[in-house]
Amino acid sequence: MDLDVPLAPDELSTSHDGTGEQVTTRDLSGLAPPARAARRWTPRRVVVTPAALDHAHGQRIVERVESQGIEVERLTANRLTGVRGQDERQTYAIAKATMAIVVSPPSRRKLQPIPPSADWRVDLAEGCPAHCQYCYLAGSLSGPPVTRVYADLDEILDNLASYVGTATRRPEEGTTFEASCYTDPLALEHLTGSWEQTVRHFGGWDADVQLRWTTKYAGVDRFVGLPHLGRTRVRFSINALPVTTRFEGGTAKLEDRLGALRTLALDGYPVGLTIAPIMPVPDWREHYGHLLDLVASAVDGVPGLDLTAECITHRFTPGSRDVLLGWYPRTQLEMDVDQRTTKRNKFGGRKHVYPKDVMGELRTWFGAELARRLPQCRVLYWT
Ligand code: SF4
Repeated sequence: MDLDVPLAPDELSTSHDGTGEQVTTRDLSGLAPPARAARRWTPRRVVVTPAALDHAHGQRIVERVESQGIEVERLTANRLTGVRGQDERQTYAIAKATMAIVVSPPSRRKLQPIPPSADWRVDLAEGCPAHCQYCYLAGSLSGPPVTRVYADLDEILDNLASYVGTATRRPEEGTTFEASCYTDPLALEHLTGSWEQTVRHFGGWDADVQLRWTTKYAGVDRFVGLPHLGRTRVRFSINALPVTTRFEGGTAKLEDRLGALRTLALDGYPVGLTIAPIMPVPDWREHYGHLLDLVASAVDGVPGLDLTAECITHRFTPGSRDVLLGWYPRTQLEMDVDQRTTKRNKFGGRKHVYPKDVMGELRTWFGAELARRLPQCRVLYWT
């Protein structure tokens, strides 16, 4: 049965990530290959709404997609049909293979704070073609996980000017804008060009600002040589091999992400590590130690390296657990409420995190080992 899915507004669904160009420049041997290596995403179905075609960037995306030999279906209304299957898993498969070029909801003009990562969240897309079994977006967005890319990029970027100086979470960075909350930039860049345009926008913007985004992909070639002026920090989401090889379907190999990090660092970008989600898997000290050593090798000898780390432990909510078990019914991911501590937010929502003693052990170890193995790395936060 097909149901209509409104494409204009606020109740989208998805996650983040992108392409798989080979960019490794260092010997990062000793890494086991993931079950499925990333390829540049070719959506099975691409649609564009009439409203999106009224925007210059919407037309640019259509041209870019068609130039890659991918047909773009012109919708006659701002609604998408045909993304629901017989059951939840079939709906997931159909939606994950679909990209919709749409106009962002008007409510997105009012930016939301996004602690602890950045001052403000700016969305250029929503959705991701990867298949991480712990996906951060599960349960936080509604409807089938269609990837929506925004045609009104010029207006989205123009809107940022009024936020300069309105918050400075880390004063040395100026006002920070996070552009990967609901998507993975490099998963989509070859289809949209949106992040390249945004990097150029920040590079040409004479203000105390920083663009930030994180990715599990490695296709960075198009960002090398851009006039970024050091105003974009690209972080690579990385994890210990037992986690990344088992739970991060469709993403780039760890060695390729680290190669991409080196490529951008050599091009003068501030770079970062999003170490997430941290899990106390068997022998976790050994595996995460190996991960940090690989990073040290990847950044070895980079002149003027500006490297940060953000450490995020695994957590889930009752809603995200239900969604993920629907998408990945045979997952081996531990989501056992009895092994967790439950935290409540001010609205009564629950999230399940590791118990205090486990959290303490992890935090102490990462603090010491990041300082020892990556002394040039600045840790921004632990959560
Ligand atoms: S967690 Fe994985 S699937 Fe979810 S948004 Fe990020 S890259 Fe995409």
